[in-house]
Amino acid sequence: MSRVNRRQWLSRVGAAGVATVAVTGASAQGQEPSKPAQAVKPERLALEDFQPKSMLHVPETNVTRSRFPVIDVHTHLTMGARHKNGVTVEEEIRLLTSPDDVLPVMDQKNIRMMVDLTGNCGKGLEEALQRFQRPHPDRFMVFTEPGWDHFSRPDYARWQADEIARAHQAGAKGLKVVKTLGLYLREQVTSGPLVKIDDPHFDLMWEACAAFKMPVAIHISDPEAFFLPIDRFNERFEELNNHPDWSFYDRDFPSNRELLEARNRMFARHPGTSFIALHVGNNAENLASVSECLDRFPNMYVELAARIGELGRQPRTARKFFEKYQDRIMFGTDAVPNGTQTPQQILSAKLYEIYYRFLETEDEYFDYAPAPKPPQGRWQIYGLGLPESILRKVYYENAERVLGIVD
Ligand SMILES: [Zn+2]
Repeated sequence: MSRVNRRQWLSRVGAAGVATVAVTGASAQGQEPSKPAQAVKPERLALEDFQPKSMLHVPETNVTRSRFPVIDVHTHLTMGARHKNGVTVEEEIRLLTSPDDVLPVMDQKNIRMMVDLTGNCGKGLEEALQRFQRPHPDRFMVFTEPGWDHFSRPDYARWQADEIARAHQAGAKGLKVVKTLGLYLREQVTSGPLVKIDDPHFDLMWEACAAFKMPVAIHISDPEAFFLPIDRFNERFEELNNHPDWSFYDRDFPSNRELLEARNRMFARHPGTSFIALHVGNNAENLASVSECLDRFPNMYVELAARIGELGRQPRTARKFFEKYQDRIMFGTDAVPNGTQTPQQILSAKLYEIYYRFLETEDEYFDYAPAPKPPQGRWQIYGLGLPESILRKVYYENAERVLGIVD
């Protein structure tokens, strides 16, 4: 059989179905098949139904309490109540939980303090402070947020800087900037061209934060895959398929790179302001690039929230990253008290145990989220097994310094 003929034959057999041909062939001659019986062809399985159980027999460490007390610098215990086209509008907030509900989990899991980033501003901020920080100043901190819906007023820059002063006066410990900046906020708030991250209208706001020693927790851009087509090559296909509105592919969105570059220009322009670049500088897939930024900007810090799935699948690179930047990395989870949509960040004892296991043990190939299916992508993670000196810094020492708890 020539090469070409063989290929043609294979394609014909393929079309008929190999299994059928083999079985009929044997029984027609009334003989036992000379080869072992063909295995039953498994039925087709939808990706969403695939829940493989690992067959690895490797140590599983249960870390029920963190080695050292934790400051979780990234939680959402309150949140702006009203949104328009991705922009929080007005001052009202929703209380997502109460100290009575959260404190028992905190005590059980060795969490000394939670920072509620999304305290909104004005009356909403007042309510968040009243509810969490004032009755429990050693357990909760509340950050304020810009009044985005004022952006189009002519005196916005000044007004916003004064608002930071008022928030500071009321007790807010820092400023949170959500990905609204760069991806949702537009010149007329909800319409017009997207506002740039390094827009000079915010310069007075960043400087006010420096003046009041309020760190800025900033979420810029999103995972790299959110900027690519939602297709079979996208490593976060299932996540984006579940949340198509999280995709920033196409339309008038800037690229991931443009967003991060605008952020970097802004960091460079405000060296006196401390920036906590959330989600590992929003570039956990590319630690070389985050390292470069940390080298360039001494005023930049990072935290881990919702990115142990990225760090934990490059454990050797991540471990080196933690060793080199041990004074710049903080503990965060992005915990929200309820819901089912994002298991990687639902506030629970189990969530914290996974983070502790990731940081403290050398366990291999385990779930990064308490969920039957990995919610962000089909991967498992490996622990970093950090030494005590680094754990202490990451769990609380760096946060104490940046948040001004100690000098
Ligand atoms: Zn968050």
